[in-house]
Amino acid sequence: MTASIASRARILTGDTPTGRLHLGHWVGSLENRVRLQDQYDCYFLIANMHAYTTRAEKAVDVRRDTLEIAKDWLSVGIDPERSTLVLQTEIPAIAELSWYFAMLLPFNRVMRNPTLKAEIEAKDLGDHYSFGFPLYAVGQCADILAFRAELVPVGEDQKAHIEMCREVARSFNRIYSGVDPTTKDDDAVANGGVFPIPSALLGRISRLIGTDGKHKMSKSLDNAIFLSDDTATILKKTKKVVTGRQSATDPGVIENNALFQYARAFMTDTARYAELETLYTAGQIGDGDVKKEVAGAIDTFLAPIRERRAGFEGTQGDARILEILREHTSRANAVAEETLRMAKAAMKLDYGARTISF
Ligand code: ATP
Ligand code: MG
Repeated sequence: MTASIASRARILTGDTPTGRLHLGHWVGSLENRVRLQDQYDCYFLIANMHAYTTRAEKAVDVRRDTLEIAKDWLSVGIDPERSTLVLQTEIPAIAELSWYFAMLLPFNRVMRNPTLKAEIEAKDLGDHYSFGFPLYAVGQCADILAFRAELVPVGEDQKAHIEMCREVARSFNRIYSGVDPTTKDDDAVANGGVFPIPSALLGRISRLIGTDGKHKMSKSLDNAIFLSDDTATILKKTKKVVTGRQSATDPGVIENNALFQYARAFMTDTARYAELETLYTAGQIGDGDVKKEVAGAIDTFLAPIRERRAGFEGTQGDARILEILREHTSRANAVAEETLRMAKAAMKLDYGARTISF
């Protein structure tokens, strides 16, 4: 690793292999990741351990989606020459830090986390979710802090998790590194803290609505347009977008309208977009007309991504992805192990040194 990479501030963010990536991921987080690759030392994590919190019986699917997500990343422009792709299960420091951090968070603080509550409702987990499900929120603190990241590009649903992560970092620094609680967040490390206090970086559209017109677009909710969808699928899904409008002559409402959110996000002709808004709110244009144009804009946006993705299909593509994941995870382990050593030393757990090879 060159000195310039090592001296850059770090980014950590990632995705859970519960399916393929969708348009919500692009506007919420991927776009920022691609943009910031030169400015930051970037670590992008496939949260394959966390996938088991809702898919413990679907090991084959988790394995498949782990590779699919890596393919999605490379297709949108995450560059394996500039960024590091990390397999969560193969970074033991993350699991270890999760344990220590779990002790710094009150149980009820985790269970009151609004993102967890929303997920339990949206994914219909009722009261039968596993013990490990809420634990993923603590684990996510470890994902970020294992890399001592300063910036976390995420969608709005993750804000509550990042806030919890900031609390964990502050508590750790105060309890084990003696950082004065009045210290400014930005000065935590300069004052002896192991962990920087990370900030969330929200995307251009921080909560893209799903095609159901109601929930956030989500891999697990059957309301997503995937980055790998073909032209026909995009058209079919766009036609089904729920706007709640009764008739084509009703004055259309733009606010919280999934269709117009997609139009704003993906139409490059801003004059045409403005025209559509005017016609729609005046009741002079139907949903169907807007849907056709929006599907076209999404398809134009996704065409080059699909093309790049085609280069990773088949067993050869899988082998190339695995090779990248292994090589990158190995170098990510060096950083995470260094963090674990620092954290354990602060916790008076420096009984010896270990090296891991992967
Ligand atoms: P799942 O249904 O399994 O929870 P997901 O679609 O919510 O999947 P995650 O892997 O949980 O995806 O999220 C990955 C990243 O993408 C997070 O930073 C999250 O905030 C962002 N993200 C996910 N969905 C959206 C969305 N609809 N709009 C904006 N950002 C999103
Ligand atoms: Mg999610």
